[in-house]
Amino acid sequence: MLNKEFLETLTPVEIQMVHQYINILFKNKVTSTTTNYGNLETSVDECPYCHCKHIVRNGHNNKTGRQRYLCKNKECGHTFEATTNTFFSHSKAKYQTWLTFIGCEVVGLSLRQESVITGVSVTGCFNMRHKLYNALRDYQQSQKLKGTCEVDATYVSINLKGWNPDDMPRFSKRRGKHKPDSQHPNLRGISHHKICIVSAVDEYDHILFRIAGLGQETFEMYNKFKDHFSEKCMIVADSKPCIAEFASANHLEADIIPSGEFKSSKLNTLAALNQLHQEFSELIRRKHGVGTRHLQAYIDWLVMTKRLRYRTDAKKMNTEIYMNIMKNSVNWTTDDICHIPMPIDLDEAYYEFMTDVNQLHQHIS
Ligand SMILES: [Zn+2]
Repeated sequence: MLNKEFLETLTPVEIQMVHQYINILFKNKVTSTTTNYGNLETSVDECPYCHCKHIVRNGHNNKTGRQRYLCKNKECGHTFEATTNTFFSHSKAKYQTWLTFIGCEVVGLSLRQESVITGVSVTGCFNMRHKLYNALRDYQQSQKLKGTCEVDATYVSINLKGWNPDDMPRFSKRRGKHKPDSQHPNLRGISHHKICIVSAVDEYDHILFRIAGLGQETFEMYNKFKDHFSEKCMIVADSKPCIAEFASANHLEADIIPSGEFKSSKLNTLAALNQLHQEFSELIRRKHGVGTRHLQAYIDWLVMTKRLRYRTDAKKMNTEIYMNIMKNSVNWTTDDICHIPMPIDLDEAYYEFMTDVNQLHQHIS
């Protein structure tokens, strides 16, 4: 196995030889026409449908000349090739295009900029972006928070970017000051038009950053994510009753920062979390608002790249991400992007306007 430990046993002259050899290989193997298939062809060891290891070679694809395989599991019997049911199964983009594209995403370029750099259309870049974000969704969900853990919520407005205007639940936008009446109660504090995002960062830089619901944070919103906290977590939070309630309900120690102060008696702060919130609002600003349907995907990407930045050299991030997604099975096509379910209930958000719309519809019919 060619790994770092092995390479370190080599003498300088041997390293020199390997270096020259690698240079030649690199020029031959990593070109603008290298496909993703090239990265997957040697690693086929199971059926992508039933994960059975009993597979045999089964001729070649007439068009592409690629190796085909047959699953010998009697209940399955599918034929497939190296890219079947992997991240790249519906992607025409070449290896270098994906690598460049991931690099663009890491530095946060716009679709238009990505299109110029990769030569893929803006729509193509949009699809690649959402495919990429979706493939890394499990990354955040698999992380468990440990040790000292800052907890708080942040808010963002609902954004219906990309919606057909005819499907808009919003009847009219009320502007300026209005006197409250029975249909339009005066809502104090954080309105139910705001999306609440529950967030937590632990001392090992594990992050929880998830859409929790509409309006002001509640005990229930935090409690939805209780499984992300390990038993010995210590919750650091400001003096909001819902977080204290969450901590005590789950038998977690809580270190509360008194209101008006920024340090707890144990000298803990919410500095790391505030930093994350700042990066999040910067992301929303840079993207000129993110459609609510895709909000969690953008959050997941932010969390993933932030985590990776702690561990990996920026130059290696695109190859590292490529390796992470390479064998990932993403069973969705371009069509699915438009059918991602809304993470919040729009009827609940716009109920006061919905009554207007219903009345209007009744009036028309
Ligand atoms: Zn099979």
